[in-house]
Amino acid sequence: MALTFDEARACVLREAGVSMGTESVWLAEAAGRVLAEEIPADRDYPPFPRSARDGFAVRAADLPGELRVIGEVRAGEFFTGAVGPGEAVEIMTGAPLPDGADAVVMVEYAERKGDRVSIQRSIAAGENFSPRGIEARDGDAVLGAGVRIGHAEVAMLATVGHTRVVVYQRPRVAIAATGDEIVEFHQHPARHQIRNSNAASLAVQVQRAGGVPEILGIARDNYESTRAQIRQGLEADLLLLSGGVSAGKYDLVEKVLAEFGAKFFFDRVKIQPGQPLVFGKVQDKVFFGLPGNPGSTMITFETIARAAIERAQGLRNPCLPLLRARLTDPVRHKTGLTRFLPAILSPDGATISPMMAHGSGDVAALARCNAFLVTDPDREAWATGEDIRVLVK
Ligand code: AMP
Ligand code: MG
Repeated sequence: MALTFDEARACVLREAGVSMGTESVWLAEAAGRVLAEEIPADRDYPPFPRSARDGFAVRAADLPGELRVIGEVRAGEFFTGAVGPGEAVEIMTGAPLPDGADAVVMVEYAERKGDRVSIQRSIAAGENFSPRGIEARDGDAVLGAGVRIGHAEVAMLATVGHTRVVVYQRPRVAIAATGDEIVEFHQHPARHQIRNSNAASLAVQVQRAGGVPEILGIARDNYESTRAQIRQGLEADLLLLSGGVSAGKYDLVEKVLAEFGAKFFFDRVKIQPGQPLVFGKVQDKVFFGLPGNPGSTMITFETIARAAIERAQGLRNPCLPLLRARLTDPVRHKTGLTRFLPAILSPDGATISPMMAHGSGDVAALARCNAFLVTDPDREAWATGEDIRVLVK
């Protein structure tokens, strides 16, 4: 059954659930992992009304006017008194707003004369400081389970002092190349042979998706070898096969998976590169049969299989960010397929130039491009200057 690109992605998100357990790691090792617990605020944030400016803490009702400066408060200090009518306290960014004050006037708008300050503009109560608890209340969830821990999430964990965090385990992902013509990439190929570049590219993509790649040996295009490889691959948490899923006489991957009792959710997707793309489960483990052309393997992994690895490790919302950019040249394609075509995105992300590539086996073009333009299946042509969707490499 052939699905559209959107249907295939939706199918993966529906069928590939969380399959990994959890473990606890130190904050310093948490980056890149998926959070498996809800993180509560350990107090109000900010914990005190915090000045957002250098200037003067005042009572808004006193302005405009001249005020008596009764002291100073810096970040890391507390002002012990209170600001009364006609008074001000000099305050620094990050310092607690003194009692009695209800606004901060920026130093740029204040003229200091000895122990007095003249402010010739009015201000609304509440300006230039963050009230206590405005970001989070004590006990509120500041992070939920299922988010990828990046630099901002690490900052949040550090802020609340959560030095050990419960995260999902990384899935081990077996990478199994098939093909009589394929040799290991450290070997010297004969003229009719090709090095196993797919295992190399998939290992990088799996790692980037949060998985632990395990590269298996190359299966030959016969039942015995393919069976042995799939058996070994099923010891991992997920299985990626490359090659052997087209309609050729020696494309055996689907047949062997069926022998293992596999359930297939789809085996064709209306995309290019990568139409013969197989997704299913065998012995409760998710597998993908990725078409072997290097461009097909890379694109089908990135746009469809990646989401399953992300789901396995608990990511709540795997996301495929597509930008839009203006074409520097016209694009035409035959309708019916979502195509991912090698392209160069300008440094400012505004324009996209299609690149000459020679089919989905053109690794040189795949290495040279920095993006793919993404054609809509029901539209035939785009003129120069029109917007088109873009997948960043
Ligand atoms: P297949 O999907 O098995 O029909 O393979 C399609 C094409 O992709 C073949 O002609 C191979 O040249 C190429 N190919 C298959 N597997 C790999 C691999 N592991 N690394 C590099 N190229 C491959
Ligand atoms: Mg093959």
